[in-house]
Amino acid sequence: MAQVSLKDVSKVYPGGVTAVNKVSLGIENKEFMVLVGPSGCGKSTTLRMIAGLEEISSGELYLGDKLVNDVPAKDRDIAMVFQNYALYPHMTVFENMAFGLKLRRYPKAEIEKRVNDAAGILGLKRLFSRRPKELSGGERQRVAVGRAIVRKPLVFLFDEPLSNLDAKLRVQMRTEIHKLHLRLATTMIYVTHDQTEAMTMGDRIAVMKDGLVQQVADPITIYDHPVNKFVASFIGSPPMNFMLGRIIKKDSRFYFDEGKIKVKIVEEMNRIIASYAGKEIFLGIRSEDIYDKLFVSTAPPENIVRATCEVVEPLGSEVYLYLNTGKHSFIARVGAHDRPLINQDMDLVFDMSKVHFFDKDTEATVV
Ligand code: ADP
Repeated sequence: MAQVSLKDVSKVYPGGVTAVNKVSLGIENKEFMVLVGPSGCGKSTTLRMIAGLEEISSGELYLGDKLVNDVPAKDRDIAMVFQNYALYPHMTVFENMAFGLKLRRYPKAEIEKRVNDAAGILGLKRLFSRRPKELSGGERQRVAVGRAIVRKPLVFLFDEPLSNLDAKLRVQMRTEIHKLHLRLATTMIYVTHDQTEAMTMGDRIAVMKDGLVQQVADPITIYDHPVNKFVASFIGSPPMNFMLGRIIKKDSRFYFDEGKIKVKIVEEMNRIIASYAGKEIFLGIRSEDIYDKLFVSTAPPENIVRATCEVVEPLGSEVYLYLNTGKHSFIARVGAHDRPLINQDMDLVFDMSKVHFFDKDTEATVV
């Protein structure tokens, strides 16, 4: 059985807001699971129910094989790291880290050993006598993590722990938490709205929207095989490009016709796409699957798309082109030295073996 299991867990807040809607999810022993989704999708509420900080309205929550719906937070063997760190301002770093163990009446020598061990891992020993206000954001975050580690819990929960840090520190802490997970080999559940954090840290990712889990899978499966248009748009940066068009059948070949552009669908997709002949559908293509034709020696004419280049954004290692077909805008990610002229038409090549199609009404993935 999974270490943490949610079975049809729901949370309805007083006033009738359904924040979490029948979520079923199993987090394996030692797994790093990321809950990701836009603000308000129910991530924190899910985490807080696991922690025991929020009552579960319906459904079952198991730790190991024990039903814990009614077990108080302090008896759940779970430690949580909060977004705002929640350090005690009047205590030193050492006291903050030791506090939870003191409350649980651990012997003094054991407390000192655990705090020292955790501080060693996190590089905090030199800060032992400082108070939180004398620490940088990153150091406070480390203390908050340290306070969780000393308890040696069964499960760690992280609620957007990096969102108060600047961009550079966020990347650094991301790696540190990743390394910490490898070192401690403990189950971790991590909440974020940041798809990059989800992609880089998660063994698996659960993508949420409107209180519902949309897809649970490893990062590459989510990226390559999103189950619907929402997941496709949420995971990946820049987001996947979408165009609404129609499937046209001509001489037993299928084409996607957007109005201004027309591309041929690869034969492997024909069987599935056939049922959409004459109907509207969303085409999705990631920016890295679009090429400047100038740099492609052989491109079938049916894959070429003409568009106006409106903005060229050089990022150093690559260049983003903001393009417009006259009906749809889209972004291509091209090589660092590609600098097309602005406000001129240019030819692009769609890698049609990489495109996705989504049902216009349900937005579920067609192929
Ligand atoms: P996320 O963490 O994904 O941003 P939350 O779990 O915090 O989302 O919130 C999910 C939904 O529940 C939101 O619509 C939010 O407004 C609502 N909500 C959160 N906390 C409460 C509360 N204490 N009372 C009423 N509604 C709440």
